Amino acid sequence: MGIYVPLATRYRPQRFADVVGQDLAVKIITRGMQKNRLGAALLFSGTRGIGKTTLARLLAKAFRCEHCDPEPCCQCDHCREFSAGGQMDVVEIDAASNTSVDDVREIIESCRYKPATGKFKIFIIDEVHMLSKSAFNALLKTLEEPPEHVKFLLATTETHKIPETILSRVLRFDLKPLDNTVVAQYLSSICNRENISADAEVLTLLAKAANGSLRDGLSILDQAINMSDSNRLSAKDIKSLLEISDDGDILELLTALAALDLKSVVEKYRKIVRSNVSPDKIAHRLLDYIYAVTCLKAHLEPLETTVPAEVLPQLASLTDKISLSSLTRIWQMLLKGIDELRICDYQETVLEMLLLRLVYAAGLPDIQDIVENLTNAKSEPSTGKASASTATATATAAATGSVLDEALKLFPQAKLAATPLAADTE
Ligand SMILES: [Zn+2]
Repeated sequence: MGIYVPLATRYRPQRFADVVGQDLAVKIITRGMQKNRLGAALLFSGTRGIGKTTLARLLAKAFRCEHCDPEPCCQCDHCREFSAGGQMDVVEIDAASNTSVDDVREIIESCRYKPATGKFKIFIIDEVHMLSKSAFNALLKTLEEPPEHVKFLLATTETHKIPETILSRVLRFDLKPLDNTVVAQYLSSICNRENISADAEVLTLLAKAANGSLRDGLSILDQAINMSDSNRLSAKDIKSLLEISDDGDILELLTALAALDLKSVVEKYRKIVRSNVSPDKIAHRLLDYIYAVTCLKAHLEPLETTVPAEVLPQLASLTDKISLSSLTRIWQMLLKGIDELRICDYQETVLEMLLLRLVYAAGLPDIQDIVENLTNAKSEPSTGKASASTATATATAAATGSVLDEALKLFPQAKLAATPLAADTE
């Protein structure tokens, strides 16, 4: 049995045309190659897994190729050596573990000598922001007057940590994370080539989990293929792999929330926790659902959705039970709560408390409704109409809590039943 080569390695681009989702950078690079205007130092920046080192390696291959047009020919000795695992005139350095001035001096010393073969000697420095200040200073002199046979290809996830003096001497490419649709399309093409069947829901789930990184997308796809019993990937398996809660469970939780049923919210939440889904994942899934309900209520087409079509009718029935302002309030609180979850050790309790706050927030009356009701209530025929500004002031005060009782008299449904909670429901 041979050694398994991961998808990300197997499908690593061999030509610029194979690069996915970085069209602008590829266009500038290929045009620059044709016009011989790329200079001696280029910097690729952006988050992890979006193609920085892929582009740097491809460019190294193109610079060394004997028949570059501007794609590397993939036929010449240099191209073949490159594909086989590197060449002695292409040096890859991880600046994270080679940060000192001595490490850079070694590079500079080696720049003095011409490449053993081919036109260029190429240095690819990954995570270049990790170099020390003195190392950057040493590098700067070479970047100012580089030997004709040397190219520097730098990559970083943190451009702001690179001195301005260096930045001003490199051609910069700020790569953007990939769109989920682009990642989904790419994963679909890989599935076809691997003879794996995956429907739109599966591809959307995978793309969303990849979070803009093609490499992460391929790595999750690798895991999904490994855990699948057949050549067909099921949404159920992917959800279990990605710790995505069951749609029925999330729907029940949201229904309890819309009904302001505190006890039921806690019960449904604890049921999902017991199915081994982390609070962080539950909160994110709830966000997906709240977005879907909001779009339904506002008659908007969602930008993207991982909410399956079969639950949409049930979601539509929730739109009558919860106002748009409550939905946006819940969304905002939940988004903020996810940040709090990340810094806490006891996430399960934190999310439970947050859900209780959400029930409370969902039950708060809308400012607009308070204004209307206060205006109506104070409009006695004998005293004339109450001014709208007085009503707004009272309503704002009511909503912020100082005259909450008055608001609650008008909106008894905002008062939550103080039902005692069961310790846990096994
Ligand atoms: Zn070639």
